[in-house]
Amino acid sequence: MPATSNHATTHKLGPLGAEPELSEMGQMVQQTVHRFAEEVMRPIGVKLDRMTPEEVIAPGSPYWDARKKYVEMGFGVDGLLELEPAERATTMCILFEELGWGDSGLAISYGAGLLPALMSAVLGNPFCRALAPDSKLGCWAITEPDHGSDSLDANGMILHPQGAYGRPNCVVTLRGDDVIVNGQKSAWVSNGIVADVCILYCAADSGAGVETKRGAVIIVPMDAEGVSRGKPLDKVGQRALNQGEIFFENVKLSRDHILAGPDQYLDAVYAIHTFANAIMGAVFTGAARAAFELALAYAHERKQGGLAIIRHQSVASRLFHMFRKVEAARALARRVVHYNFTSPHPSLHAAMSSKITATQTAFEVANDALQIFCGNGLTREYPIEKIWRDARASLIEDGCNEVLAIKGGYYLIDPDLL
Ligand SMILES: Cc1cc2nc3c(=O)[nH]c(=O)nc-3n(C[C@H](O)[C@H](O)[C@H](O)COP(=O)(O)OP(=O)(O)OC[C@H]3O[C@@H](n4cnc5c(N)ncnc54)[C@H](O)[C@@H]3O)c2cc1C
Repeated sequence: MPATSNHATTHKLGPLGAEPELSEMGQMVQQTVHRFAEEVMRPIGVKLDRMTPEEVIAPGSPYWDARKKYVEMGFGVDGLLELEPAERATTMCILFEELGWGDSGLAISYGAGLLPALMSAVLGNPFCRALAPDSKLGCWAITEPDHGSDSLDANGMILHPQGAYGRPNCVVTLRGDDVIVNGQKSAWVSNGIVADVCILYCAADSGAGVETKRGAVIIVPMDAEGVSRGKPLDKVGQRALNQGEIFFENVKLSRDHILAGPDQYLDAVYAIHTFANAIMGAVFTGAARAAFELALAYAHERKQGGLAIIRHQSVASRLFHMFRKVEAARALARRVVHYNFTSPHPSLHAAMSSKITATQTAFEVANDALQIFCGNGLTREYPIEKIWRDARASLIEDGCNEVLAIKGGYYLIDPDLL
């Protein structure tokens, strides 16, 4: 239909699409975080993307400037937990969508950064919470060099019938008055090289040999004697997110540092994975939205055949499918976070559905955006190829999507119907 038609009306949605009007607080959060995402995260994310991993975390790097400004915004764990659950759900969805819109690598750095504090607060452990105040940067160390997908399937739900977990790379000994940690975690630990405090999930030996299903969760100050770190990882996407190995050599801590013992280990894995996957849903909705908005703007500017390319049907239709997918990812992210924050039984497979949907959406939408930018999309002069690389990493982090889907499918099995 020609643009001059009387029927060609434009209906502009707000920044969060077909979102019912936000509360005053919701609007304030959205505007504040959006400003931070646009003015601080976007430009700094692009700079960090072009730096070496060592430069990203060196003193004076813009990473630290962005981190300082993020902390100053005041989205601390206690403040978030004081909100009533439904409001907390909306606030966290808006917060993490906007952060993901700014730079998904930095958004993951901030999300992973709060995990020791959040889990200590949620599990009601004041000693551990004091070790992980909001000002300290946290990390979550669960995967190991020999156990990626295995470690996130701690209950062995999808273990192959002919398979075996094998030797863990990191073990905490829980005999006696102290806990002693030995071994290492994978090079993939987000914030691993820079974190001040770590929430460590690992196998435990409480006297009956090393057990992987009856592991332990320990809050480890990263300056404890015997803790050391590897080199920051050089990778294709989310380069603003520092990652690296952590080594533990006879790290001796008092038993107060135990956040969850062998009897609570599987519940603690379930709880952190449920939270992390749900937040990933919001972050990568934001990354997808960023790619969509950039492509939409470009399609109005770029002319071919004497017309803005959005007037070509294939471009308009591609943009519409991108818009539709972003809306769907956001709707699911909201729904799942809301359900999990308000239900007495948060659902891991609901969280997995949001994580897979949002990350797959971010990758597809960034890929479509790149096609709309065409030749320009391939160059580093334009922002799309970075978002595309960042989104590619998201299909693997926090459990690769294939493995999450298998495990999610197993949660659908109803033994009463078999
Ligand atoms: C950006 C990013 C951030 C991350 N952040 C953290 C972090 O903060 N903390 C942390 O501890 N880890 C982190 N990780 C690690 C991440 O959780 C793992 O990479 C992920 O769980 C997959 O493990 P893997 O890479 O070892 O792959 P593997 O487990 O070796 O899998 C290899 C392949 O085999 C398939 N496969 C494996 N097991 C099965 C199975 N049972 N059934 C069917 N197929 C299977 C997988 O689908 C995959 O294609 C991060 C990773 C990335 C990319």
